[in-house]
Amino acid sequence: MNSVSSIIELENVAFNYDRNAVETEFLVNHWSIHKGEQVFIHGASGSGKSTLLNILSGLLSPRSGKVMVLDKRLDKMNRKQRDAFRAKEIGIVFQRFNLIPYLNSEENIRLAKYLSGESSSDLSAEITELLERLRIDEKSRSKPVTELSTGQQQRIAIARALINRPRLLIADEPTSSLDYANRDGFLELLKELTGKEEITLLFVSHDHSLKSHFTRSQDISEIMLDGAST
Ligand code: ADP
Ligand code: MG
Repeated sequence: MNSVSSIIELENVAFNYDRNAVETEFLVNHWSIHKGEQVFIHGASGSGKSTLLNILSGLLSPRSGKVMVLDKRLDKMNRKQRDAFRAKEIGIVFQRFNLIPYLNSEENIRLAKYLSGESSSDLSAEITELLERLRIDEKSRSKPVTELSTGQQQRIAIARALINRPRLLIADEPTSSLDYANRDGFLELLKELTGKEEITLLFVSHDHSLKSHFTRSQDISEIMLDGAST
């Protein structure tokens, strides 16, 4: 495996929610994603999808093993380093979008930029461009996000994930609250935006029918082994 072009590389990763547990709860022997791949991971509720994504984004730290993301060893970082890495390098779209309700659309996006620790000489222009591409009109931009439709909130969540120009975008079941028409539109938009910039996309869902939108598809059970059964 050529590690140079790997965006993600996991090796013998063992994780437990319970620190005192003797038996390993989750195990990944070897798994990698290459630059530019659009990967879909399917798994039933409770199968470990969010756990895997949280390990990859550094929210959770494994008990042992190698977690390499964008050429950095997350398993060698402390929590503060992982938080900084995540804020700067990874775009994340959550299931419930996790927008800050008392901020408007633009402020939610600005906050992501602020948390990355990077500055931009022309952030307003960048936000305008992004929101235009995401078809968010001028009026909606200054509304509190709670007053926006679900579809609009979702597009703000994408804008927030992309403002720091990440090389990796992680999406945790962001379509579960959408109807079919909105769902397909959202997926196409996500693919268009990431494809253009060669952003690697990792998307998880319990909905198997989404798989056709991606260049690669795997079941979570092929990646995360149940530690107890190995
Ligand atoms: P999915 O995202 O596929 O629905 P999760 O990764 O959220 O699955 O959960 C996988 C398993 O880990 C489940 O059995 C769940 O109960 C357990 N789990 C998830 N989060 C925690 C936590 N914070 N503490 C203890 N167990 C958890
Ligand atoms: Mg989940």
